[in-house]
Amino acid sequence: MRDTTKHKGMRNKLAQVVAGKGIKDPKVLEALKAIPRHLFLDSGFEEHAYQDKPFPIGAGQTISQPYTVAFQTQLLQVRPENRILEIGTGSGYQTAILLHLKARVFTIERQQELFKRTKLFFTKMGYRPKKMVFGDGYKGMEEDAPFDGIIVTAGAPETPKALLAQLKVGGRLVIPVGVDEQQMTVYERKSEKEFEKKTYGGFRFVPLLEDKN
Ligand code: SAH
Repeated sequence: MRDTTKHKGMRNKLAQVVAGKGIKDPKVLEALKAIPRHLFLDSGFEEHAYQDKPFPIGAGQTISQPYTVAFQTQLLQVRPENRILEIGTGSGYQTAILLHLKARVFTIERQQELFKRTKLFFTKMGYRPKKMVFGDGYKGMEEDAPFDGIIVTAGAPETPKALLAQLKVGGRLVIPVGVDEQQMTVYERKSEKEFEKKTYGGFRFVPLLEDKN
């Protein structure tokens, strides 16, 4: 598959649709216009890639809906050079959006098949996260902590304590919390001990699964 002016046109429309649903951050909208979402999907979905919908990516997982990606990214308030930890690499689309915002991205995926496939795809595309790990995101990435931001792209039954512990003071954790439906939740670390918690409405994600090993 290639990236053409037709695809670019569809991306511009998608960014308009997402803006119409309330996403205001111009940098986030620019990132949606820049990243060729159709290349993150099987060729069978090429026609649909710029609809504001999730799609299957294999291993029972989905690429998040563009609006959801934009909403979480906006809440994360990424600045250039920020160290961002992402839990749930999946197709790599959210990772690419963060890289476009010039973040240093550390990303974890627990499905071997997706991990391998997306790693190869990144090499092919020239996307360069600082680190890609096959493992359990519940534990975060202690050796590279603390982070300016942490984004979880799967539904967590509860907020993993390790992720809160790996935030810098002033940093933000954006995580959908809940079992069947999740509340988009932001924790901002105010000091070593204090976190401010805010919620931003209901979403549906595939579950964040704990490693059984
Ligand atoms: N950001 C991805 C979302 C993929 S869906 C995208 O837009 O494509 C969520 C992903 O989280 C899945 O790939 C799933 O395998 C992964 N996941 C679930 N539990 C996990 C865990 N404990 N640690 C790391 N990744 C996990």
